[in-house]
Amino acid sequence: MTDIVIIGAGTAGLTAAIYARRAGRSVLVFEAETYGGQIINTPEIENYPGIKNVSGYQFATDLYSQATSLGAEVVFDKVVAIEGDSKSRFVCKLEYGEDVTAKVVILACGAKNRHLGIPMEEKLTGRGVSYCATCDGAFFRGKEVAVIGGGSTALQDAIYLSGLCSKVYLVHRRDKFRGEQTYVDVIRNTPNIELVLNSTIEDLIGDTVLEGVTIKDVNTNEMRKLDVNGLFIAIGQVPNNKMFENVVCLDKNGYVIAGEDCETNVPGIFVAGDGRTKILRQLTTAAADGAVAATAACDYLANI
Ligand code: NAP
Repeated sequence: MTDIVIIGAGTAGLTAAIYARRAGRSVLVFEAETYGGQIINTPEIENYPGIKNVSGYQFATDLYSQATSLGAEVVFDKVVAIEGDSKSRFVCKLEYGEDVTAKVVILACGAKNRHLGIPMEEKLTGRGVSYCATCDGAFFRGKEVAVIGGGSTALQDAIYLSGLCSKVYLVHRRDKFRGEQTYVDVIRNTPNIELVLNSTIEDLIGDTVLEGVTIKDVNTNEMRKLDVNGLFIAIGQVPNNKMFENVVCLDKNGYVIAGEDCETNVPGIFVAGDGRTKILRQLTTAAADGAVAATAACDYLANI
């Protein structure tokens, strides 16, 4: 039986793995996609204390290497269910592999991109619609694109795309940005970014590839077409906790309910990172959660 199963190899999960391994515990990390979580798609990180500037890919790769070199085993398989009994043993059911039993589970599944939920969005994904500027931006070199969102991701995406594309429309539903002012300042000084504020995207134009978007001014209800080949949707995230809704308590938005101690309502199950109820979801808080959850898990193991 493994001491600690960690579900998710993002910043929170890999930090938890580092702390748990350094505390001498056996650790298995399950990851359904690639290591690194959301940060792997971030072009530049400039707000992680002690690191002036690093790409998300480099940061995630270093973190992965640090955790595995300390002896954490990372298995690329999806945990589809957790079953528990009264003896602090949790059985993790995997999509492909055999069941794994653990004394403690740390949920670090993070979040996935929120979708706009408008017609044609799914059909045109990969055909002009994207959720990742760093992954897909190069396909739109020299073309006109739009970014929707007002958080730091949308702002960063717009800045990144302005270096590749002839024009970037930044569409936001309000006239104030939620994202960092530093990025707003850069955007206001970037000639090929046009702000389209107080506006929403109503329609995606195109049958097989994106040919444009229809936007609506929320104050005047006036409709306008933007002739863009690419639309980058950056409107926040939704937590990846659906599969645990019958295991631990979630809040109305799907986040696992836990305080700064990262303890869920189930003894032996902890939560770390963006999937937890919290007021600030950042790289630093994900790493902090990983450390706290692993330390709490090790204390728990010492007392069972
Ligand atoms: P976010 O901060 O939650 O922002 C989401 C944005 O999308 C908001 O501006 C929101 O508008 C808008 N939005 C939400 N639903 C929408 C809808 N249905 N239609 C149109 N617009 C919609 O998400 P994020 O930018 O992905 O950032 C997530 C977290 O990562 C944040 O904590 C952020 O600070 C952090 N982050 C940090 C950095 C960095 O380098 N510092 C970079 C990226 C992300 P409203 O503002 O009107 O609600």
